Amino acid sequence: MNSLRHILVVVGARPQFIKAAALQRVLRNSAAWNSTWLHTGQHHDASLSAQFFEELELPVPDVTLTPRSESREWRLGDMMHGIRKAIQQGRPDWVLVFGDTDSTLAGAWAASAEGVPLVHVEAGLRSHDWAMPEEVNRVLTDRLSSVLVCPTDAAVEHLNNEGIRHTQGSDSVHPTRPRVLRTGDVMHDNAVHYGAAWPEENRGTGKVLITMHRPANVDHPDRLRAWMNAMTSWLSDSGQSAVFPVHPRTVASFDSSWPDWRHELQQIGIEVVHPLGYLDLLKALCEAPVVLTDSGGVQKEAFSMGTRCVVLRPTTEWVEQVERGHSSLAAEPSDLAACATRALEQGRFAPDDLYGSGQSAQDILRCLEALPC
Ligand code: UDP
Repeated sequence: MNSLRHILVVVGARPQFIKAAALQRVLRNSAAWNSTWLHTGQHHDASLSAQFFEELELPVPDVTLTPRSESREWRLGDMMHGIRKAIQQGRPDWVLVFGDTDSTLAGAWAASAEGVPLVHVEAGLRSHDWAMPEEVNRVLTDRLSSVLVCPTDAAVEHLNNEGIRHTQGSDSVHPTRPRVLRTGDVMHDNAVHYGAAWPEENRGTGKVLITMHRPANVDHPDRLRAWMNAMTSWLSDSGQSAVFPVHPRTVASFDSSWPDWRHELQQIGIEVVHPLGYLDLLKALCEAPVVLTDSGGVQKEAFSMGTRCVVLRPTTEWVEQVERGHSSLAAEPSDLAACATRALEQGRFAPDDLYGSGQSAQDILRCLEALPC
């Protein structure tokens, strides 16, 4: 297998830029790969896109789409169309997608329509909550994938339960003859790569970190207000202050329902800031005594940094962290105080190799190099 392999890497949303950075560090030093990068345009706000390309030294995309944003269906359709055209023009050996966003699903559909084998990084994760668009995207993408890259044993087991099992042999890969790979997690690769930078003595000594942007938490103003009330009351009881980088979706919901929200939150000890760049986010995670979040990525990065995490959701895909007691689920605002108090009392922990040793991107490419395509 010495010939140059061509891979089309599809990214489009903030967590994908971060995941792709781990892959890019390996790709750029490899003589075995030629890569084409496609940005679907799903996240185009500079605070969610451009700053990550710069900071994480991602290549300028070869193709950037500008999907219509008026509705989810139009955006999805435009992304599918654009990715399919890029596959027709470049004829890659593989299409690679990350995670569970609409860009992931669009890439999966386009690869399937063009008969190009699809690699899904973060395959097999399940929240079992079909109300989450991400869950639908994950399941459909896995079904269309030829190579399913699982970051945890639970992910392998979910696929197994759905009848998606590793096939041996020299036949070319196809969704009916998939390869299921168990690697570590590429976000953990990044946390290992960048995370050593912060002095040990600062860890856990800063402000509580809050991130929240899932539609179920922020789209309904009453629900959003209930979360903020629960947080402010816990912060005041525990004597903590917090920093809250607010996602544009959450800003829109606040703006529509709570005219003076920035000022009022600041007054009660929540520092409201724009979305942070990746390195600032990691630093805030490292310094936080506790993280309150509904983000999948932030949960994992909290683990990588040894910071306990309260997940503002009834379910999570990262179940191992909950089973080990490093995270807890606050399904309702009324659960938050007990979870956060417990996390604060338990304090920091030493992360182990749950998500690998920081070499997952190398492992993924090495496995792909050994496969026929
Ligand atoms: N992130 C960031 N700045 C912020 C908030 C998040 O850089 O202000 C990063 C963080 O590293 C996280 C990633 O964005 O892992 C995940 O993005 P998001 O929470 O939007 O998506 P999810 O992981 O929930 O799909």
